Amino acid sequence: MTAKYLLAIDQGTSSSRSVIYDHDARVVASEQQEFPQIYPQPGWVEHDPEAIWASVTSVTRGVLEKAGAVASDVSAVGITNQRETTVIWDRETGEPVYNAIVWQDRRTADFCQSLKNDGLETAVAEKTGLRLDPYFSGTKIAWILDNVDGVRARAEAGKLAFGTIDCFLLWRLTGGRVHATDATNASRTLLFNIHTQTWDDDLLDMFGVPRALLPDVRDCAADYGVATDDSLGGDVPICGIAGDQQAALIGQAGFAPGMTKSTYGTGCFVVANTGDEALLSRNHLLSTVAMRIEGKVTYGLEGSVFVAGSAMQWLRDELRVIDSAPASEAIARRTGVVEDVYVVPAFAGLGAPYWDPDARGAVLGLTRGSGRDDLVTATLQSVAFQTVDLIAAMSEDGIRPSVIRVDGGMVANDWFLQFLADVLEIPVERPENVESTVLGAAYLAGFQAGIVDSPDAISDLWQRDALFEPAMDAAQRERLLQGWNDAVRRIRTDG
Ligand code: ADP
Repeated sequence: MTAKYLLAIDQGTSSSRSVIYDHDARVVASEQQEFPQIYPQPGWVEHDPEAIWASVTSVTRGVLEKAGAVASDVSAVGITNQRETTVIWDRETGEPVYNAIVWQDRRTADFCQSLKNDGLETAVAEKTGLRLDPYFSGTKIAWILDNVDGVRARAEAGKLAFGTIDCFLLWRLTGGRVHATDATNASRTLLFNIHTQTWDDDLLDMFGVPRALLPDVRDCAADYGVATDDSLGGDVPICGIAGDQQAALIGQAGFAPGMTKSTYGTGCFVVANTGDEALLSRNHLLSTVAMRIEGKVTYGLEGSVFVAGSAMQWLRDELRVIDSAPASEAIARRTGVVEDVYVVPAFAGLGAPYWDPDARGAVLGLTRGSGRDDLVTATLQSVAFQTVDLIAAMSEDGIRPSVIRVDGGMVANDWFLQFLADVLEIPVERPENVESTVLGAAYLAGFQAGIVDSPDAISDLWQRDALFEPAMDAAQRERLLQGWNDAVRRIRTDG
């Protein structure tokens, strides 16, 4: 029997998914499982690596069963993952020495601040494209080395391994034979020089991380070894890895410079392809490896806002003004654009381009006549306004997309996408398959396995479901953006 499927694993922040595709990138079966979040103290977020592993093996076996397939039906496996989340484990036993410290975890804020006080931020940004922020892996590794008994000595003796989640899963899938990661995940650690594509000794010194901990860094489409019997019930080559936002750009066929995708799930992540140039943002955006394929590095400019779809969950679960997130669409449609009420959903501070962690959310402009419908519509509008701020920052850095490809759960909402196109003044395209992240992982695996010929073939497979053209008159757009800017100004804590 010849293999006819690709299997993609998407290990996300709140759930793990496995999807089986046929060789034409059509979904055959999909399986998803949530796993527990651990909050040991305010500002700390951990995952149990064993729970992650158990959820991945369970959805992978589950999806094979659903598709009526066995390991030998699968040509190749691709992996995409929540980025930056940090695991350190014993090379001998495979056992983690501590829980995974999740990207959202803020415990290393003081360490980051002390490095900033030492004037190191510019040097770090020049090498890594990142900011000195607890978000990234570097200070999380240092925390484990400094706070778990005996770990630093074991790390220096070469007995331990560090990995982001892709790397940890790869280790487990290959039965401990392969310790490797891809260039996109490496580019989120603060230890990787994105220009030379190597682990950087100065950065390793700065964060106090022994080189012996680090994985080999490979292209996104590469030979990553073979998943063994124990994990998949048979040998299957692992051929692709990329961090979730980069995988989404690949799933959206964002291969040409200027191509931009915006993902609307819990939060919103925009990544623009900047070609072979790593821009040093002057507007608090990140430069990152967007993909590395056949040895060629493509860079990306990235901005994120923390609250997008989760604002809908807030309306549903806390305010209880809607029954479900999709219900927001009918409400906005009958209400129409709201010009006087502004919701600023800065529940966890403001992300790019403001980076104001102490700001908090607000509702402004209420009058006696303001009601639920205004609030719901204004909340949807706030997600679009935050995207406008990100794209404005990108434009100032020299990247002005001519069209934006959107994906994620929230893009089922047509009213939202029309409003987004209107306030951005940029056309918005929604693909047939809005699950771009996991699709991107499948494409990488398919490319390496010789099933997908080239990035061009991926571009050909990309199909548009809907196009939203800007249609709002300029005066109204101006008034709305003015209102939004005023609202943001009023909640900022940093002047
Ligand atoms: P994640 O991958 O971050 O878990 P998803 O891509 O699955 O997120 O998107 C889910 C989010 O999208 C939820 O926060 C939900 O509130 C929001 N959402 C889903 N459908 C709609 C809709 N029709 N309108 C607005 N928001 C929606």
